[in-house]
This record gives sequence, structure tokens and C-alpha cells, in this order.
Amino acid sequence: MSTQNLKNTARSLAVGDKSLLADETIRQQTKDLTTPVLSDGTAPRPGKDGEQCAITGKPVADGIVMGTAVVIAALTDSLADGTDKDAATYTLADFRRAVRLTSEQLHEFQQRIREGIAEPISNIFDSHLAILDDAAFTGEMRRRIKGGTAVQVAIKEVTNKFVSVFSRSTSLGFSEKCDDLNDIARRLLANLAHQADVGMNTDYHGRILVTPLLFPSDMLRILAQRAEGIILTTGGVTAHISILAQSLEIPMVFAQANLMEGVTTGTTLLMDANHGTIYVNPGDNIMARYGSLLETRGRELPTEGAIEPQTCTRDGHRIHLLAAIGLVSEASATRQLGAEGVGLYRSEMSFLIHNGFPTEDEQYTLYRKVMEEMEGREIVFRTLDLGGDKIPEYFVASEEPNPFLGLRGMRFAYRHLELFNTQIRALLRAAHDRPLKVLFPLISSVDSLRHARELVEAAIRDLKAAHVPHQSQPALGAMIELPCAVGIADDLAAEADFLSIGSNDLVQHMLAVDRTNEQVADWYVPWHPAILRAIRAVVEAARHHHKPLSLCGDMAQDLTLIPVLVGIGITALTVPPRRILRVQRLIQQMDAAAAEELARKALAAPTLAEISELLNIQHSFPSS
Ligand code: PEP
Ligand code: MG
Repeated sequence: MSTQNLKNTARSLAVGDKSLLADETIRQQTKDLTTPVLSDGTAPRPGKDGEQCAITGKPVADGIVMGTAVVIAALTDSLADGTDKDAATYTLADFRRAVRLTSEQLHEFQQRIREGIAEPISNIFDSHLAILDDAAFTGEMRRRIKGGTAVQVAIKEVTNKFVSVFSRSTSLGFSEKCDDLNDIARRLLANLAHQADVGMNTDYHGRILVTPLLFPSDMLRILAQRAEGIILTTGGVTAHISILAQSLEIPMVFAQANLMEGVTTGTTLLMDANHGTIYVNPGDNIMARYGSLLETRGRELPTEGAIEPQTCTRDGHRIHLLAAIGLVSEASATRQLGAEGVGLYRSEMSFLIHNGFPTEDEQYTLYRKVMEEMEGREIVFRTLDLGGDKIPEYFVASEEPNPFLGLRGMRFAYRHLELFNTQIRALLRAAHDRPLKVLFPLISSVDSLRHARELVEAAIRDLKAAHVPHQSQPALGAMIELPCAVGIADDLAAEADFLSIGSNDLVQHMLAVDRTNEQVADWYVPWHPAILRAIRAVVEAARHHHKPLSLCGDMAQDLTLIPVLVGIGITALTVPPRRILRVQRLIQQMDAAAAEELARKALAAPTLAEISELLNIQHSFPSS
């Protein structure tokens, strides 16, 4: 196969890349819908006055859904001051009823989440329930009501009092506490007035949320509230919120706020999150073309055992395809799919949706469940990668001016050793009867890797002394996601048992482009010559020391980049479960020899433009 053929194969498959549907007919159906089309052939523009139009956004999490828009400034606004409804007379008995109803609803949400994601530690609403039970909160409301204050006024006064105390704190975590308080107060007021459709009380079934701001726990609420999908109007597509949306299977598109101006609450939307297209007031032609896709809701995984157990190029070059997951539900999906294993288990995802740091035993249960789901296949457990844009709501961290360059990854772990040690003990215990691979995020030096190894060895000694069954020979790996790690890749390869390139962070740090900042998204260019050459250097280091190397992050699932990555020498790709099938198809149609030729040219090209041309990528570069 020639280089040109290889490029064409990658390109034609990339047309359908965002479709997670295995079925060939459906893929054909979506192919011509990648460019927004209006029934009258006019140019797309933001929808106003019921006119049909299409908005092009960025796909974040797959799915094709339809619903009416609910435009929300923030899911958790602060409480408005007094309203006419405050004049309504309610009694202490009404207040008690509202508290009881609120508690029942929160329990129900908790239950829906447990069923939805099968995560043993997903009890995010426990913190809401605790607030609801708190004598300083609802107790104080009760006292004021008994003293003659109107029920609505008591709810607002007490809530605002706590919110103003918490909002004066500059520590992270407190603003989320304020959101929780406001959520609960809004729910209490809604239940008091028997309103079924206010704030968190809303059932978003049949609706698509349009919002500029989301927290990880919002995602769980949205899941529980059964929203069809989300349109996020700020934030980059590689933010962890998007990883969570993919894990939770909530279709999501990022769209510029100015494009969404014509969309108001009640506007009918058809969202093709596979391609990032939002059809506003879709007409019959669009509906007809999407009809069958909508029925499937675009969320199904390819059928059981849909992928072949091993992946080779046409000329017999073996590539390992592993899954990147963060939740237990994804582990079972990965097994059903028939994937070789899990190349990246983002352990922090469970922490982000919990309501407090899980205990050693809770983590043990969780990791054991992931292991059992995977039935003996390889799993790479990445230790907590907190910090940056991944701060659990319950954690009070000091605010950092530049979080991505701040206390993240292993720096966070070393600053909070008790968390790290707890996790290591839980992992070692959970793997007492099977092999264990542990991966450390954001490794910046050999010293850092050695320190991590020493901590693991200390935990092994402790468990041994206490006669606790454990794994005593875990394989320890380093993530290569910083320019400094690339610079010492050879030393890290000598020291580590295996390496994993984290392409999201590698691109962010090498190019100095914040992966969550939409303003600089055009500068986020993974095929930059410096990135390709850095990957090549890591491949050579791993080969030199005969250490396994894989690549994860968005590059690994980008069909336009896979040929060049394979040509550079990457032999293991870690991709979200839903993308494995399509990546496998591409690789099966590639020739490794042609990929090598492509990589040779790309590695020699000095400009972004030349590499874009080589890889058939359309990109208008900002003048940089
Ligand atoms: C990466 O940086 O590519 C990676 C896989 O880690 P995360 O996206 O979780 O930072
Ligand atoms: Mg990373």
C-alpha cells in the first residue's frame, strides 16, 4: 500500500470516526452529514425565530440525541432574593414535608446513579443528605420558623448566611459547598411549593442542557436527571469533564457561546455529538436522515466480542489495542467488547465522583471489582492524578494561579502522602492473587520514580509484616507526559518496568497550550514536529531498554494520526472502549511499511504545514 493510499484509508475512516456505531449501513448514513446542511441550502447561522440551522461545534462525547434546549447560566446559581412566592403562607409542617421529600429525592438520585454506573463508591449525594440533616442548617431554619419567620425567608436567610461565610474563603472546595447549599435550598423551596420542575428537581428527560459551566458532580446529577445530552459553551474538549462525559456516556458537544446565542430554553435541537453538529429546529430532511440513528441513541457499544482478539496491519505487524477507562461500568464494557486489556485506568475518576476520599477498604472493593470485570486481562492502574482541573469537590486545596503547572500528578501525591499510601496498599491487597501494573502520572525525574518505588516497597514491607495478603512484585511504570521526561526518556526507560506516553499532557506541556483553554485551541497541534520527534525519542529509549511502551490520550484514537504513530514505532495504543473497533479497522487496512515511510517524511518535515499536508489534515494555523 502506498503512502497516498494509506492517507486515503485513514481519511475515509476518519469521516466516520466519531460514529461509535459498528453497523456499516449506519456509518454510511452519517457520512454525508458531517458538514452541516440546511434544507434550503443556505449557509448555517445561529438559529433564531424557529428557523432551521446547523451549528458546528466540537464533539466531546459520542451520541446522537434529540431534545428541547434548557439554557442554564450555571447549574448551580446562587439563590435569588425574595420573590412573590415568599408571600405564600406555609407552616412548619409544610417545611418538614419539604425536607422529607428532598431527602427521598436525593436517595432516589443516589440509587439511579448506582444503577447507572455500577460504581461502588458513587455516593455523591451523601454530602447533600448530610447537609439536609445538619442541625446548623435545617435545624436553624426550623428554629427561625418557630420564631415566626416565613418558611421561604428562613430557608433563604440561613442558606445565604452559610454561602456568604463559605464564599469568603479562597480555598477550592468551598465554592462547591456553596453550590451544594444553593442546590438544596432551591430543592426545598421547590418541594415546599409542590413544583416539580425547579433546579435539581428537574427531570431532564427529553432535554439537552446548554451551559457554560460544569463540575464533575454536575455530570452525575445530569445522569440521574436523565438529560439527553449537554452542550458546553466554555472549556476545551480535553478537559476532564469531557473524559467523564465519555465514561458516563452522556453525549456532549462543545460550541462557542456566540454561536449558541439564538438557542433559548425550549428550542428544539438535534445533537449529533459524533460529529459535533447541532441542528437547531431540525427540519424534515434532517429528521428523516437521522431517524434511525436517533432510535439507537448512538450510545450502544459494538456488539459483544465485536473486535478481533488481536490486531495486525495488513503486512502482519502486531499492534496492541487497550482500553482507557475510569469507571467500573467501562471495565465490563471493555470485557464484553473483547479488548486485550486496560492500558489506562484513571483511578482519580472514582474519586472525583465520590463525596470524600474513599477509604482503603472502599478502594480495595473498587479495584477488585475492576479486576474481576476484566477476568484476568491486563490492567494498568494509574495512581491518583489529581490537581490541575481534577480537584474533588470535597477537597479543600489552596487556590493556585496556574493549576496545570501546579500541584498535580505525583507532586500532589507526594504532598498528600497519606492518600498515595492508602491507594498503594489498596492496590497491592486487591492484586494479592494476580499480577499488578501500577503507573505513575506526571513523572518529572528519575528521582521521582525512585521515590515512588520506595514508597511501594515500604507498603509491601508493612503488609508483609502484618500478614496481609498482597502482591509483592508489582510492575511499576512511568508516564511520559512532560518535556523533561522526554529529555531523560532513556534513564526513565532504564529505571521503569514500562512506559506510557500521555499524549494530552505531552502536547499541552511541550507546546505550552492549556488543554482546557478554547482561546488557544488552534495552537494545540498534536502533529507538531516537536511532538512527533519527542514520541520517536521515547520509542527509541523503550526499545533500547526492552521495555513495553504504549501511548494514551487523544492522539491514540485520532485516525489521521495513527498511521504516523505506528510508523514512528508505537506498538500499543490505549483508547476509549468505544473507539477500539474503528481503530482496529484502520490498522487492519494499513501497511506498516507504508506507515514507516510516512513517518520518515513527517519526522523530517520542519513545518506544521508540511506535516498537515502529509497527513491530509485541514488546519488553519494562527500566525504563530
Ligand atoms: C494524557 O495526559 O494523555 C493522559 C492520558 O492523562 P490525562 O488525560 O488523564 O491527563
Ligand atoms: Mg495526563
